[in-house]
Amino acid sequence: MSSIFTKIVQGEIPCHKIAEDDDFFAFLDINPNAAGHTLCVPKKEVDKLLDLDEATYMGLMAFSRKVGLAIEKAIPCNRVGLTVIGLEVPHVHVHLIPLHSMANATFQNKEKLSPEEFKAIAQKIRANM
Ligand code: AMP
Repeated sequence: MSSIFTKIVQGEIPCHKIAEDDDFFAFLDINPNAAGHTLCVPKKEVDKLLDLDEATYMGLMAFSRKVGLAIEKAIPCNRVGLTVIGLEVPHVHVHLIPLHSMANATFQNKEKLSPEEFKAIAQKIRANM
């Protein structure tokens, strides 16, 4: 069965899309640590980061860098943090998180956003890509 992120990439499940190229896809995290929290995934469905072939791994990092630079321009924050966890969804994804303080890096303090706020944030990041 396809992962939830493959379903997002294929347009079967809605998302707030940020960017896409032939191999990678970025969208807002539905339960963000902070406004602007974005996930970057390879379209190729692989569970664990270190199981990616080297070209896909390097490509994912380059794609995440581009998206991270756009987040940094769009969302006022101290810096954009990058982390990979993967305990919930078995499809590699890079978390790009606008950090205001360490609390945003813990995955314990979540920010509630309205659909309109998600939409506006996605538009703002896309405008900086
Ligand atoms: P983890 O696998 O522990 O790195 O966490 C998975 C992340 O995916 C969490 O931050 C979730 O909020 C996020 N997530 C799960 N389902 C969706 C979805 N349908 N759209 C956007 N983000 C999602």
